[in-house]
Amino acid sequence: MMTVVDCIVNDHNLVLVLVAALVCLFGSAVTLRLLSRAVRASGGQRLGWQFLAAVAGGGGVWTTHFVAMLAYRPPAPVSIDPALTILSLVIAMTGLFASLLVSAIPASRVFPALGGAMVGLSFSAMHYAGMLAYRVVGIVEWQFNYVVASIAITAVFSAASVALISRRPPGLQHYRAAVTLLVAGIVGLHFTAMAAFRVTPMTQNFPEFDAQAIAALALAIVVVALIIVGTGLASYLIDTHVQANSQEQLRHMASHDTLTGLPNRASFNECLTGSLLDARDGNKKFAVVCIDLNRFKEINDTLGHGAGDEALRILARRMAQSLEEGEFIARLGGDEFAAVKRFADRSEVHAFADRMAGIFNRPIRIDSMEAEVGASIGAAVWPDDAKDLDELLNNADLAMYHAKHAFLDTICFYDPEIGASVRKRRRLAEALRHALDHDQLELHYQVQMSLASGEIHGYEVLLRWTHPQLGPIPPSDFIPVAEENGLIAPLGAWVLRRACQDAAAWEPPYRIAVNVSAVQFMDASLPRLVHQVLVETGLPPHRLELELTETALIRDKARSLHIMRQIKALGVGVSLDDFGSGYSSLETLRSFPFDKIKLDRTFVDGIEHDRQSKAIVRAVLALGKSLHIPVLAEGIESDDQIAILRAEGCDEGQGFLLGRPSPADDLARQGGPTRFGARSVQQYENPTGVDTLSDKARITSA
Ligand code: C2E
Ligand code: CA
Ligand code: CA
Repeated sequence: MMTVVDCIVNDHNLVLVLVAALVCLFGSAVTLRLLSRAVRASGGQRLGWQFLAAVAGGGGVWTTHFVAMLAYRPPAPVSIDPALTILSLVIAMTGLFASLLVSAIPASRVFPALGGAMVGLSFSAMHYAGMLAYRVVGIVEWQFNYVVASIAITAVFSAASVALISRRPPGLQHYRAAVTLLVAGIVGLHFTAMAAFRVTPMTQNFPEFDAQAIAALALAIVVVALIIVGTGLASYLIDTHVQANSQEQLRHMASHDTLTGLPNRASFNECLTGSLLDARDGNKKFAVVCIDLNRFKEINDTLGHGAGDEALRILARRMAQSLEEGEFIARLGGDEFAAVKRFADRSEVHAFADRMAGIFNRPIRIDSMEAEVGASIGAAVWPDDAKDLDELLNNADLAMYHAKHAFLDTICFYDPEIGASVRKRRRLAEALRHALDHDQLELHYQVQMSLASGEIHGYEVLLRWTHPQLGPIPPSDFIPVAEENGLIAPLGAWVLRRACQDAAAWEPPYRIAVNVSAVQFMDASLPRLVHQVLVETGLPPHRLELELTETALIRDKARSLHIMRQIKALGVGVSLDDFGSGYSSLETLRSFPFDKIKLDRTFVDGIEHDRQSKAIVRAVLALGKSLHIPVLAEGIESDDQIAILRAEGCDEGQGFLLGRPSPADDLARQGGPTRFGARSVQQYENPTGVDTLSDKARITSA
């Protein structure tokens, strides 16, 4: 019996065998490379890679087979069946594709090996279909045991190969081993199968080969081989390009902010370090410029987060376009930006800040709305203002913070005094937060009464804070700090809740007037808070009045009016505080439905001596009369003042003469309200017995 080795040596043209082996090696290498890409990809991409692997692998094994068949020297004449030849190629490619799909099923680790075995079966099917296409004039015998062995060999080797390449991640060694196994499977298949194939010629005189068919076959082989080379090369090129692109993208993502595309904090730190090295080398200067938007929160609150994002993108684009040589800008997060500006003269930093301020002050259009965001800008200079980068950045931030709370519309350069004052405010903010959490705040009440009859109308609620070390801190110091630090919302809510609780237990049931800061008033959830507190404490709405200043109203009139109407719809009163001290426009009084005007105490202060003050008081009183809004005069300290105000027909008054602000427990001694009983506030929920909120006035949400 003939061995496989005999078969190779005796029956083949060895040069063509070598070519077949090379095709086999190259085809396997390309196929497994494509397959390893498929393993790492997912979805449609994986399918694409699997398809390419099937084309290259099917083509490779088919080419190997037919080159080897050309190398085969049969003892009888041969012809080729074109249809079956093509069919064998189709079998190889589709069989391989189906096998690769199976090998990628993630359900179990068996599937790569199973799919790999199917690869071997597809190759065998291709081989034997190819043998059917190979027509020999003679008696063909098949040795069944070799046929079985050929199929088994290729199935086992390809199973091992595919299982290896399907490991994640497939290393170079795995790849090499997988290629070796696949080549071994294909070579094993071919020569074992050829050993199974025996031809006994029918005649001793060989007729001519079917030369035309063989030439066509050779041509087909060249075409398929080119397809394999092309697939391998194209996939390699695309893949390396895509990888390079995605690496570039990753690098960009790591160093840039995804929303605005500006460099991020990491890039900023890198730039800072670079600038520091350059500055040290060349004895140069640079500034760190911190920029914080002033009214970004309002855009977010009123127009929604989408609009906020859009605003940031527009501003970032403008900034990026305006940058010049030696300038770098990054988004540090939220509405915070920071820039590095290298300069020779400070005026260059001023010019840079002006350019940036121009960008933020230019209105931005979002949908049909226009908004002007504005920004606070602070700078610190290397090496003048800091010993290291952390300190430099921190000082630029302090300068920005100062610019913000001092309402500066130009850049603020860091100086140690600014640093100290900002640090003090920050400490104050911390202490205030602590006081709020630890119940160190207290409310005082100051009486408001009718000037004609002396009858008590109500009490203004005034917040008191006694710091354990610093002693009493006036509200004029800590309210602005609370406004800057976002503390005003919880602070205001605390005041409102506590005051309503106190007043709900009063006998007689006097009205209370609670101060509402401009920042608190701009928060659209204020009406909901008021409603909630009234329901919780049971204070009837007509016993509550909110005091607003004009600053709270003028920035966005439509929005203010909306909030104010919601509050009034609850049955709560609204008075205009400090009238005459600020903008004092008649327009405000005409367009907002105030229940009371509180005349600022500066006018009352001068009323006895200063004719101008008296004239203003008279004018405001006349105005109140014509608009049917009662006027309360604040800060009455003397008998003369009260006499004049009475004579001028002022309705109400408040001041040290009438009563100093005092804790709720002291009011009874001054002829004010007493707390009835020691019952808990909850029991006084709705002491009047009537529904505190009529259906008409009940609001759901702001
Ligand atoms: P305001 O609303 O004008 O409050 C009246 C201020 O005048 C109070 O000062 C009060 O003590 C003072 N005052 C009353 N009568 C006289 C008088 O006859 N002569 C003089 N010279 N002053 C008098 P206070 O309590 O220091 O409050 C200052 C400001 O702090 C208040 O001005 C108000 O704007 C704000 N504030 C106080 N409590 C709160 C609060 O709970 N929330 C908010 N948002 N602001 C508050
Ligand atoms: Ca007030
Ligand atoms: Ca006032």
